[in-house]
Amino acid sequence: MTILITNDDGIYSPGIAALARIASKFGKVVVIAPDVEQSSMGHAVTHSRPLSLKKSPISFEGIEAWRVNGTPADCVALGSHLYAHTDVVLSGINMGPNLGNGMWHSGTLAAAKQAVLLGIRGIALSTPVGKTEPDFDALAPYVEKTLALLLENTSLGLYNVNFPPQPKGMKWTRQSVRLYDGHIVPGVDPMGRKHYWFTVTPLEPAEEGTDRWAVENDYVSITPLRLDLTDEQRLKEVMKAQPVS
Ligand code: MN
Repeated sequence: MTILITNDDGIYSPGIAALARIASKFGKVVVIAPDVEQSSMGHAVTHSRPLSLKKSPISFEGIEAWRVNGTPADCVALGSHLYAHTDVVLSGINMGPNLGNGMWHSGTLAAAKQAVLLGIRGIALSTPVGKTEPDFDALAPYVEKTLALLLENTSLGLYNVNFPPQPKGMKWTRQSVRLYDGHIVPGVDPMGRKHYWFTVTPLEPAEEGTDRWAVENDYVSITPLRLDLTDEQRLKEVMKAQPVS
Protein backbone atom coordinates (compact mmCIF):
# COMPACT_ATOMS: atom_id res chain seq x y z
CA MET A 1 0.00 0.00 0.00
CA THR A 2 1.32 3.47 -0.92
CA ILE A 3 0.39 6.14 1.61
CA LEU A 4 0.78 9.81 0.71
CA ILE A 5 1.11 12.09 3.72
CA THR A 6 0.53 15.82 3.78
CA ASN A 7 -0.71 18.53 6.16
CA ASP A 8 -1.48 22.23 6.38
CA ASP A 9 0.91 23.10 9.22
CA GLY A 10 3.91 22.72 6.92
CA ILE A 11 6.51 20.00 6.51
CA TYR A 12 8.43 20.97 9.68
CA SER A 13 5.47 20.36 12.00
CA PRO A 14 5.99 17.63 14.65
CA GLY A 15 2.48 16.38 13.79
CA ILE A 16 3.39 15.25 10.28
CA ALA A 17 6.61 13.58 11.50
CA ALA A 18 4.56 11.59 14.05
CA LEU A 19 1.98 10.60 11.42
CA ALA A 20 4.65 9.47 8.93
CA ARG A 21 6.29 7.35 11.62
CA ILE A 22 3.05 5.64 12.61
CA ALA A 23 1.76 5.21 9.04
CA SER A 24 4.95 3.48 7.91
CA LYS A 25 3.70 0.40 9.82
CA PHE A 26 0.91 0.12 7.23
CA GLY A 27 2.74 0.55 3.91
CA LYS A 28 5.17 2.61 1.85
CA VAL A 29 5.00 6.22 3.02
CA VAL A 30 5.77 9.28 0.91
CA VAL A 31 5.59 12.77 2.45
CA ILE A 32 4.69 15.76 0.29
CA ALA A 33 3.72 18.84 2.25
CA PRO A 34 3.67 22.66 2.09
CA ASP A 35 7.02 24.38 2.75
CA VAL A 36 5.31 26.91 5.07
CA GLU A 37 2.19 26.87 7.23
CA GLN A 38 -1.06 26.85 5.25
CA SER A 39 -3.58 26.52 8.10
CA SER A 40 -7.12 27.80 7.41
CA MET A 41 -6.40 27.96 3.66
CA GLY A 42 -9.34 25.64 3.07
CA HIS A 43 -9.41 24.07 -0.40
CA ALA A 44 -7.33 26.78 -2.11
CA VAL A 45 -5.30 25.68 -5.14
CA THR A 46 -2.49 27.53 -6.92
CA HIS A 47 -3.37 28.44 -10.48
CA SER A 48 -1.37 31.57 -11.29
CA ARG A 49 2.19 30.27 -10.88
CA PRO A 50 4.00 26.95 -11.27
CA LEU A 51 4.61 24.61 -8.35
CA SER A 52 8.01 23.20 -7.51
CA LEU A 53 9.20 20.66 -5.01
CA LYS A 54 12.41 20.05 -3.10
CA LYS A 55 13.69 16.98 -1.25
CA SER A 56 13.17 17.47 2.48
CA PRO A 57 14.64 14.67 4.59
CA ILE A 58 14.55 16.58 7.91
CA SER A 59 12.36 14.68 10.46
CA PHE A 60 11.69 11.80 8.04
CA GLU A 61 14.48 9.28 8.44
CA GLY A 62 14.26 6.63 5.72
CA ILE A 63 11.07 8.15 4.26
CA GLU A 64 10.94 10.01 0.96
CA ALA A 65 9.82 13.55 1.71
CA TRP A 66 9.21 16.64 -0.43
CA ARG A 67 8.32 20.23 0.38
CA VAL A 68 6.14 22.18 -2.03
CA ASN A 69 5.57 25.93 -2.48
CA GLY A 70 1.81 25.42 -2.53
CA THR A 71 -1.34 24.60 -0.58
CA PRO A 72 -2.38 21.27 0.98
CA ALA A 73 -4.68 20.58 -2.01
CA ASP A 74 -1.77 21.33 -4.40
CA CYS A 75 0.40 18.82 -2.52
CA VAL A 76 -2.19 16.07 -3.00
CA ALA A 77 -2.65 16.85 -6.70
CA LEU A 78 1.12 16.90 -7.26
CA GLY A 79 1.77 13.88 -5.05
CA SER A 80 -0.82 11.69 -6.74
CA HIS A 81 0.63 12.72 -10.12
CA LEU A 82 4.18 11.77 -9.09
CA TYR A 83 3.09 8.64 -7.18
CA ALA A 84 0.34 7.33 -9.45
CA HIS A 85 -0.19 4.22 -7.32
CA THR A 86 -1.20 6.16 -4.21
CA ASP A 87 -3.84 4.16 -2.29
CA VAL A 88 -4.66 6.64 0.44
CA VAL A 89 -3.89 10.22 1.48
CA LEU A 90 -3.42 10.99 5.19
CA SER A 91 -3.44 14.65 6.21
CA GLY A 92 -2.14 15.78 9.61
CA ILE A 93 -1.70 15.33 12.38
CA ASN A 94 -2.96 18.89 12.53
CA MET A 95 -1.93 20.99 15.54
CA GLY A 96 -5.41 22.24 16.38
CA PRO A 97 -8.89 20.73 16.18
CA ASN A 98 -10.96 20.46 12.98
CA LEU A 99 -14.44 20.07 14.40
CA GLY A 100 -17.94 21.19 13.44
CA ASN A 101 -17.99 24.40 11.42
CA GLY A 102 -14.18 24.55 11.51
CA MET A 103 -14.21 21.98 8.71
CA TRP A 104 -15.12 24.75 6.25
CA HIS A 105 -11.80 26.53 6.77
CA SER A 106 -9.60 23.50 7.25
CA GLY A 107 -6.60 23.00 4.98
CA THR A 108 -6.01 19.64 6.68
CA LEU A 109 -9.41 18.37 5.63
CA ALA A 110 -9.14 20.00 2.18
CA ALA A 111 -6.13 17.80 1.42
CA ALA A 112 -8.21 14.69 2.20
CA LYS A 113 -11.09 16.12 0.12
CA GLN A 114 -8.73 16.71 -2.81
CA ALA A 115 -7.71 13.05 -2.61
CA VAL A 116 -11.33 11.91 -2.85
CA LEU A 117 -11.93 14.25 -5.81
CA LEU A 118 -9.06 12.44 -7.54
CA GLY A 119 -10.52 9.02 -6.71
CA ILE A 120 -8.23 8.25 -3.74
CA ARG A 121 -9.28 7.59 -0.13
CA GLY A 122 -8.69 10.57 2.17
CA ILE A 123 -8.30 10.77 5.95
CA ALA A 124 -7.76 14.00 7.92
CA LEU A 125 -6.30 13.77 11.45
CA SER A 126 -6.17 16.56 14.04
CA THR A 127 -5.61 17.16 17.74
CA PRO A 128 -6.17 20.27 19.89
CA VAL A 129 -3.19 22.22 21.20
CA GLY A 130 -3.40 23.35 24.81
CA LYS A 131 -0.78 25.22 26.82
CA THR A 132 1.75 22.51 25.95
CA GLU A 133 2.52 20.81 22.61
CA PRO A 134 0.53 17.63 21.85
CA ASP A 135 2.14 14.44 23.17
CA PHE A 136 2.27 12.46 19.93
CA ASP A 137 3.94 9.47 21.60
CA ALA A 138 0.97 9.18 23.97
CA LEU A 139 -1.49 9.51 21.06
CA ALA A 140 0.36 6.99 18.87
CA PRO A 141 -1.57 3.85 19.99
CA TYR A 142 -4.87 5.60 19.15
CA VAL A 143 -3.58 6.90 15.82
CA GLU A 144 -2.48 3.38 14.96
CA LYS A 145 -5.83 1.91 16.03
CA THR A 146 -7.70 4.49 13.93
CA LEU A 147 -5.59 3.85 10.85
CA ALA A 148 -6.05 0.08 11.22
CA LEU A 149 -9.81 0.61 11.40
CA LEU A 150 -10.09 3.01 8.46
CA LEU A 151 -7.51 1.42 6.15
CA GLU A 152 -9.30 -1.92 6.44
CA ASN A 153 -12.13 -0.48 4.32
CA THR A 154 -10.78 -0.06 0.78
CA SER A 155 -13.84 1.66 -0.74
CA LEU A 156 -13.51 5.35 -1.63
CA GLY A 157 -14.21 7.37 1.48
CA LEU A 158 -13.52 10.62 3.28
CA TYR A 159 -13.00 10.69 7.05
CA ASN A 160 -12.33 13.45 9.55
CA VAL A 161 -10.62 12.27 12.73
CA ASN A 162 -9.93 14.32 15.90
CA PHE A 163 -7.94 13.07 18.88
CA PRO A 164 -8.48 14.49 22.38
CA PRO A 165 -5.24 14.92 24.38
CA GLN A 166 -5.91 11.78 26.46
CA PRO A 167 -8.36 9.46 24.68
CA LYS A 168 -10.43 6.99 26.67
CA GLY A 169 -12.06 5.38 23.60
CA MET A 170 -13.31 5.99 20.07
CA LYS A 171 -16.68 7.08 18.63
CA TRP A 172 -18.25 7.27 15.18
CA THR A 173 -19.69 10.78 15.03
CA ARG A 174 -21.48 13.29 12.84
CA GLN A 175 -20.50 16.91 12.22
CA SER A 176 -21.73 19.43 14.75
CA VAL A 177 -23.27 22.25 12.73
CA ARG A 178 -24.17 24.99 15.19
CA LEU A 179 -24.10 28.74 15.10
CA TYR A 180 -21.00 30.52 16.29
CA ASP A 181 -20.10 34.07 17.07
CA GLY A 182 -17.59 35.46 14.58
CA HIS A 183 -16.13 37.77 17.18
CA ILE A 184 -13.69 40.42 15.91
CA VAL A 185 -11.08 41.63 18.40
CA PRO A 186 -9.45 44.95 17.46
CA GLY A 187 -5.84 45.73 18.30
CA VAL A 188 -2.99 48.06 17.36
CA ASP A 189 0.30 47.04 15.67
CA PRO A 190 3.76 48.38 16.75
CA MET A 191 3.43 51.16 14.14
CA GLY A 192 0.18 52.32 15.71
CA ARG A 193 -2.00 50.98 12.90
CA LYS A 194 -5.35 49.34 13.69
CA HIS A 195 -5.71 45.62 13.02
CA TYR A 196 -8.24 42.91 13.82
CA TRP A 197 -8.21 39.28 14.98
CA PHE A 198 -10.97 36.94 13.83
CA THR A 199 -11.98 34.70 16.73
CA VAL A 200 -14.74 32.11 16.98
CA THR A 201 -16.88 31.25 20.00
CA PRO A 202 -19.51 28.50 19.74
CA LEU A 203 -22.94 29.84 20.80
CA GLU A 204 -24.47 26.50 21.75
CA PRO A 205 -23.18 23.42 23.57
CA ALA A 206 -22.22 20.40 21.46
CA GLU A 207 -24.96 17.81 20.81
CA GLU A 208 -24.34 14.21 21.88
CA GLY A 209 -23.09 12.04 19.03
CA THR A 210 -21.26 14.87 17.28
CA ASP A 211 -17.56 15.39 16.71
CA ARG A 212 -17.35 18.30 19.18
CA TRP A 213 -19.14 16.31 21.85
CA ALA A 214 -16.84 13.29 21.41
CA VAL A 215 -13.62 15.28 21.79
CA GLU A 216 -15.02 17.28 24.74
CA ASN A 217 -15.71 13.91 26.39
CA ASP A 218 -12.23 12.49 25.68
CA TYR A 219 -13.18 10.20 22.78
CA VAL A 220 -11.44 9.99 19.42
CA SER A 221 -14.01 11.34 16.96
CA ILE A 222 -14.27 9.68 13.52
CA THR A 223 -16.72 11.33 11.11
CA PRO A 224 -17.43 9.92 7.66
CA LEU A 225 -18.03 12.86 5.28
CA ARG A 226 -19.47 13.32 1.81
CA LEU A 227 -18.66 15.89 -0.86
CA ASP A 228 -22.25 16.43 -2.04
CA LEU A 229 -23.50 19.53 -0.20
CA THR A 230 -26.97 19.43 -1.77
CA ASP A 231 -29.81 19.99 0.70
CA GLU A 232 -31.99 17.09 -0.51
CA GLN A 233 -34.98 17.97 1.67
CA ARG A 234 -35.05 21.60 0.52
CA LEU A 235 -34.52 20.61 -3.10
CA LYS A 236 -37.67 18.47 -2.91
CA GLU A 237 -39.59 21.30 -1.25
CA VAL A 238 -38.60 24.07 -3.69
CA MET A 239 -39.14 21.89 -6.74
CA LYS A 240 -42.69 21.37 -5.53
CA ALA A 241 -43.46 24.83 -4.15
CA GLN A 242 -41.57 27.02 -6.63
CA PRO A 243 -41.37 25.15 -9.95
CA VAL A 244 -39.19 26.84 -12.57
CA SER A 245 -38.89 26.26 -16.30
MN1 MN B 1 -3.13 23.53 10.63
